[in-house]
Amino acid sequence: MSTFPFDPKSELSGNVLSGFYIDGQWVQPCSNASVSLIAPSTGQAFASVPLADTADVDKAVDAARRAFDTGPWPSMSGTERAACLQRMSAALVSRMTLLSRIWTAEVGAPLWFANMFVPTARAMFDYYAELASTFGFEESRSTRGGEAMIIRHPVGVTALIAPWNAQLPILSYKLSAALAAGCTVVVKAPPEAPLDALVVAECAHEAGLPPGVLNVITADAERGAHLVAKREVDKVSFTGSTATGKLIAKTCSDRLARVTLELGGKSAAIVLDDAELNPTLAALAPVTMPFSGQICFAQTRILVPRSREKEFIEAYSAIIGGLKVGDPWDMTTQIGPVASRRQLDRVIRYIEAGSNEGARITTGGGRSSKYDQGFFVEPTVFAGVTSEMTIAREEIFGPVVSIIAYDDVDQAVALANDTDFGLSGTVFTSDVERGYSTARRIRTGNVSVNGLEMAPNVPFGGFKQSGIGREGGPEGLSAFLEDQAIYLPAGSPRVRQE
Ligand code: NAD
Repeated sequence: MSTFPFDPKSELSGNVLSGFYIDGQWVQPCSNASVSLIAPSTGQAFASVPLADTADVDKAVDAARRAFDTGPWPSMSGTERAACLQRMSAALVSRMTLLSRIWTAEVGAPLWFANMFVPTARAMFDYYAELASTFGFEESRSTRGGEAMIIRHPVGVTALIAPWNAQLPILSYKLSAALAAGCTVVVKAPPEAPLDALVVAECAHEAGLPPGVLNVITADAERGAHLVAKREVDKVSFTGSTATGKLIAKTCSDRLARVTLELGGKSAAIVLDDAELNPTLAALAPVTMPFSGQICFAQTRILVPRSREKEFIEAYSAIIGGLKVGDPWDMTTQIGPVASRRQLDRVIRYIEAGSNEGARITTGGGRSSKYDQGFFVEPTVFAGVTSEMTIAREEIFGPVVSIIAYDDVDQAVALANDTDFGLSGTVFTSDVERGYSTARRIRTGNVSVNGLEMAPNVPFGGFKQSGIGREGGPEGLSAFLEDQAIYLPAGSPRVRQE
């Protein structure tokens, strides 16, 4: 049996365990609704936290609306807001250990993995603090009749919704940009993994964010839909499944609320015929099923030249078959559980579909027998996969990878693009120029050559059904801004400059 060395009562405050953060205070929920948090490594409940009613959603939105319409935050200078973001960054840094432990407790991410990615939160707050203090929120352009001032206003009240898999990093991308822009925010934390967002609220409080600028509630899908539909919400920034993204886009379209969608993926790694085997595997294998494949940019389709198919399948399957599956709290574990019973059932259904449709399992292939209680799946590789098969088309969100053979680079590119998704991709080669020209032909928002990288100053997001809009970089800040042009006659005194 897996261990569970996390004690919510001693590691978390009473506020985080029993309240919502609304209008600068910890408040009691409007109803007695609650949700049990289940540790994926043991299958046992370890805490129970309140779940929002529609009245809680309404209170949070009212607070954010008031803070936007009458509070100081939207009209502060970028530099003033940057100072607050820096204080939030410091507050996050002081809680890094706790935030990693929460990630492992809630969704079973191996602790080393959580330790590696929790600092993303700090990086995003630092990046947007820096950008807010240098960004041109106001700009003058000369016109025929005089000049025009271009004012980049905050878009307004924003609803930030993120999934359970990587709550802290995803929320940090959205929240740091929204705050830097001067927006006020309602965060709807997911019922499976709400603790991270509530700890972020503690950081905001410590950093002295004005009341109502950040409001955090834990809510289910129904209350999430209520939040998205509220006319007081000017913008929704959503990360999650493509199916939910489409529903949210429909709701937003009714009142033309602004929307950014970061959705699913079915990303391809193209191994070119000149790629050296060992360095390629060393860089590729870890990004094919990070956190048991529950990361949107996982490289879940590996495209290999037919001439090297056998060699690649053997070597890659040996690596995946040798991964240590087990307790996520053990620092030597490479693959922990999947996040929930629902994920476990879903992944097993896809493995069955792969076998039924004629793909060949080279390693793994079922529930891990070592742990009865937790939600463990054997890391699984399918060979002989074709682009029509369900496992090559649908996002599995589990430790399951398909190997697809190609005959030439044109076919590899066509296969990589033969998907409704367009989130990420990689190209492996010994010729970086060739990698670059191949990468440019892939219809995805991000492609990396000989590895996989994401950086705070670089936009991230999807083509096609992987989303609309970008997060990260100046593009991610612009997503929370609304441009206003004010034309002034010649000789007018210039309006306020930053
Ligand atoms: P999901 O779409 O079921 O839920 C995501 C969030 O939306 C949750 O907080 C949920 O409570 C909420 N929600 C559900 N229905 C809603 C509705 N009608 N209105 C408002 N909110 C609603 O996704 P999931 O299963 O939690 O997460 C996995 C998915 O997220 C995968 O498809 C994965 O690819 C995607 N994802 C994408 C990125 C990215 O950056 N592109 C990153 C991580 C995960």
